[in-house]
Amino acid sequence: KETDIYSISETNEDKLGALRPECFDDYTGQKKVIENLKVYVKAAKERGDSLDHCLFYGPPGLGKTTLANIIAHELGVNITVTSGPAIEKSGDLAALLTNLTPRQVLFIDEIHRLHSSVEEILYPAMEDFKLDLLIGQGPGARSMRIDLPKFTLVGATTRAGLLTSPLRDRFGMIIRLEFYQDEELAQIITRGAGLLNTPIEKKAALEIAKCSRGTPRIAHRILRRMRDFAHVFNKGIISLDIAYDGLKRLEIDNAGLDANDRRLLMTIIEKYDGGPVGLETLAAATSEEKDTIEDVIEPFLIYKGFIQKTPRGRVASKITYDHLGIRYNHKTSI
Ligand code: ATP
Repeated sequence: KETDIYSISETNEDKLGALRPECFDDYTGQKKVIENLKVYVKAAKERGDSLDHCLFYGPPGLGKTTLANIIAHELGVNITVTSGPAIEKSGDLAALLTNLTPRQVLFIDEIHRLHSSVEEILYPAMEDFKLDLLIGQGPGARSMRIDLPKFTLVGATTRAGLLTSPLRDRFGMIIRLEFYQDEELAQIITRGAGLLNTPIEKKAALEIAKCSRGTPRIAHRILRRMRDFAHVFNKGIISLDIAYDGLKRLEIDNAGLDANDRRLLMTIIEKYDGGPVGLETLAAATSEEKDTIEDVIEPFLIYKGFIQKTPRGRVASKITYDHLGIRYNHKTSI
């Protein structure tokens, strides 16, 4: 079904700006991952074989979808893009699999959200490139095995822990994407500004990078807003002053935290004495979805040491108190 396959999760702005890198050489950061992938892709290509199945995991916006597209591009094959929740029935997946061309990439985003009945179809498809179909119903039903072309499944998930072990075990590569360093993000921002025909000062790129939560998607989002500020206030040039002023207007502080981050941290400190506080309680107190806190807000705060995850719940660290200008009371914290 046409509607089950959604196009790559780009915003219109992304399409307009075409900021998504298309080949390994345009991709900044994740050095070790890229070095290894280059080898695997070259080897598969030279053998005329399909690349092993590959699972990317890590917080949103770090480049999982981008890498899936790059892999297909470098292999010189097609890519079909879909997502776990979009494949509702096993028949939907069967249709996708039977339409694959040899060695092509099938990208499944949010693969941890596949239904278990759908997942079971995937096991023989991944392992033996076979599709088991049940034809008919009741006593007359019979099963049929169909050969599939060899293909590469690229899965992406924000939480590898939620994948069932039979599915996880069928991936030949399990790759964790890390938050980006400031210098890498500055390069991504400079490249993006170039593609958007917007001059940017080196120091401004670094300042925006520091406030991008280690995440290219956020760096691109801030860059686009900076382009607007520069257009209206500075003849289109993103200077350091425009960057400082723009970040203030976006309510992003010098650690890259936005209003939502600060609200979460303030809630832990003010309502729960710095914690520990359970995820569910925190979600109710901040009116955020549990998943949003766990997948989107929290990973960067944990990475930077603002929050510690303990068996009894989340705890605000001394770094948080210092950052928010609140006196650290050791007794009420860990
Ligand atoms: P999600 O899990 O939410 O789908 P994702 O990890 O798949 O996120 P992408 O959609 O691949 O992230 O990337 C988000 C944005 O960041 C895209 O606009 C892409 O152009 C940009 N981007 C990601 N990684 C890089 C990179 N290394 N260099 C330049 N731009 C990048």
